[in-house]
Amino acid sequence: MNGLPLHDDRPKEECGVVGLYTPSEEAARVAFFALFALQHRGQESAGIAVSDGSQVRMHKDMGLVSQVFNEEILRGLSGSMAVGHTRYSTMGASVLRNAQPIYCQSLVGEIAVAHNGNLINARELRKELQAEGEHFDGSNDSEVIARLLVRSLHLGPEEAVRETMKRLKGAYSVTVLTPQVVLGFRDPYGVRPLIAGRVDDGFLVASESCAFGPVGGTIERELEPGEMVLIDRNGMRFAQGVDAVRRAMCLFEFIYFARPDSRMYGTVLYTARERMGERLALEHPVEADAVVPVPDSGIPAALGYSRQTGIPFVEGMTKSRYIHRTFIQPDQRMRERGVRMKLTPIIEHIAGRRLILVDDSIVRATTTKQIVRLLFEAGASEVHVRITAPPIRFPCFYGIDMASRGELAAAKMTIDEICRHVGATSLGYLSIPGACEAVGRPTDDFCLACFDGEYPLPVPEDLTKQAFEAPPEVGDMETVRTGQLKLMEV
Ligand code: SF4
Repeated sequence: MNGLPLHDDRPKEECGVVGLYTPSEEAARVAFFALFALQHRGQESAGIAVSDGSQVRMHKDMGLVSQVFNEEILRGLSGSMAVGHTRYSTMGASVLRNAQPIYCQSLVGEIAVAHNGNLINARELRKELQAEGEHFDGSNDSEVIARLLVRSLHLGPEEAVRETMKRLKGAYSVTVLTPQVVLGFRDPYGVRPLIAGRVDDGFLVASESCAFGPVGGTIERELEPGEMVLIDRNGMRFAQGVDAVRRAMCLFEFIYFARPDSRMYGTVLYTARERMGERLALEHPVEADAVVPVPDSGIPAALGYSRQTGIPFVEGMTKSRYIHRTFIQPDQRMRERGVRMKLTPIIEHIAGRRLILVDDSIVRATTTKQIVRLLFEAGASEVHVRITAPPIRFPCFYGIDMASRGELAAAKMTIDEICRHVGATSLGYLSIPGACEAVGRPTDDFCLACFDGEYPLPVPEDLTKQAFEAPPEVGDMETVRTGQLKLMEV
């Protein structure tokens, strides 16, 4: 496993994707820097596939984008079209054969596929394809997409995507490379983001707009639910893949997952998160001496809370920026230090003060409990916890590694009980309408399933049953994660 298990119980995003054409024959280099900007969406494996117009070549491996690629590898990947992927993989699937892009070939042609999301009918599609003689190399749902695509390739890339989209159920934002064209497509609910634009004299499609800046690109627009984009040396063209059902973009992208400088639904996320902090202050005011963020994700909301109340914003902790960049595993004594491996209190900013601690989410409450204790031990007189995600009461089936229901603090405890459990002086969560209003869109435009249990895409009963079952021992993060990840495997 890459990186330190730091008892960070935030939900984990699963994957960032890019696809592009550039006349410079340096598509792999552009893909590298675009993926580098999407590193927050997955740190366990990375890969780039390129086409020189006649054939597809690929390099992928376990590790961060900067660990997987070097100058020599990039020089060996010359070509004007590319797709790339960075993956947060799940335990059982954290192996090279599940790294992406996924390469497939048939007598008709070859493709490389990069996928962000989670299919809820992957198991049945896989069985069906296997019954028809299809061989699978890995165990992830993205290979199902790749196998479906390659089987329809005789219809041409555009129709192959349409035929494939008709079969898929679930959350998917996908980029595809054939020798002559790059395609991107998004599920009919638009759960995961996908945005298209220009780079140099070419075109780029990526999970988030933050991928465009480092490569000198400009954004054109987000893909609509059910829409596809086709990119080749002649230009960029949008087409409908399947009919849109409704907008149901993941609210968590806005609260935490996506990079704060990214733009979604036309709003810069940093600004949306500041507004979440302002609304949190209106919904859950309290007298205090300082507003302290959990770095780094809590900073914009803490600034908003501070601005709304006039209570000073203070940095109460510093965060090690590099700890996740090591393959060296901590020993047991270090593991027990938990969040202290990563966060150090600034005692002079904390001691004797009444603090408002602003964070993005509480999943199992293990991290929040450790941070509250850290602040009290550093001398805080009160710690009022304020959270920008509404209480998470239901599991996610759409590509987020979260937890089964029995593990979720808000599914098994009242707010008062969570407050006592984490040892806080008080606890307040932003409401669902408050979070959506901060983004500037009606609640109907979002997937809110992990907050309200209303799943926009029907979830098969067997998956639901597993995810709603009681978990293994809470607190044993590795065990807990395995339990959830099995559910994601197909
Ligand atoms: S269930 Fe929650 S985490 Fe999953 S897609 Fe919906 S809003 Fe996002």
